[in-house]
Amino acid sequence: MFVDAHAHLQNFPNQLNYDWDAYLKFFSIDSIVCNGTGLKDWESVHILSSSSSRIVPAYGVHPWKVMDQPDNWLDCLERYLSNDRALIGEIGLDKWVRDSDFELQKVFFMKQLELGIELKCPIVVHCLKAFGHLNKFLGRYEKIPAGFLLHSYGGPKEFVSNFLKKGAYFSFSAYFLREHKGAVREIFREIPLERILLETDAPDMKGPDFLYDKKVNSPSWIDALNPPAIISRIYEEFAKLYKLPLEDLVKQMNVNYKNFLLRA
Ligand SMILES: [Zn+2]
Repeated sequence: MFVDAHAHLQNFPNQLNYDWDAYLKFFSIDSIVCNGTGLKDWESVHILSSSSSRIVPAYGVHPWKVMDQPDNWLDCLERYLSNDRALIGEIGLDKWVRDSDFELQKVFFMKQLELGIELKCPIVVHCLKAFGHLNKFLGRYEKIPAGFLLHSYGGPKEFVSNFLKKGAYFSFSAYFLREHKGAVREIFREIPLERILLETDAPDMKGPDFLYDKKVNSPSWIDALNPPAIISRIYEEFAKLYKLPLEDLVKQMNVNYKNFLLRA
């Protein structure tokens, strides 16, 4: 019944020898998008997604990984994308990270964005402190045909309406439930519910401690990090924030997720 729009299952230790399908089923997670970040982890994403129909693969070069890719990365990416369930992601622009070549990030972002448009493939975007640049890139297109997800959106309110016009979905993560993230929660309250998705970003981006107080009882090597099972708690907290009954939120998130995954 839950859907998780953004995670990196390949970053858990022991991940490839584990029955994720049983885990996801046990925690009522019908589907989760597992995002690759570069050539080094695409094979793991492929193996994980082949092991369970609940795991949707996404392949892309993350802005933090642009400096580590071999020359033939784009050919490899196209090969992985030939799997018809795959999305493009996680790609993006990041001016927050230190020691990264922003010009090179722009080259990788543009190539992957164009590939997504050509293949009519939904795109998962990471953006930190570079929203003006992102807005400029998107300005070249009337609309991104299969839509895109601005994962863990922490950008300014002013860009929201333009991003919506270009086909954006916005995902809300556990991290935004931390006390100091009140301004981000306010922005989410104003985004139309049909364009919102919820995500764990597991195993990264842990939320506030209270979220983990109710034990979810997944194996300790999963619980030591940010476990996918926490998605149910994110739904509960977001329902309170948006003042919606939980069942209504679950229904709407399933509709949104299906719409986002549909190709244009
Ligand atoms: Zn991510």
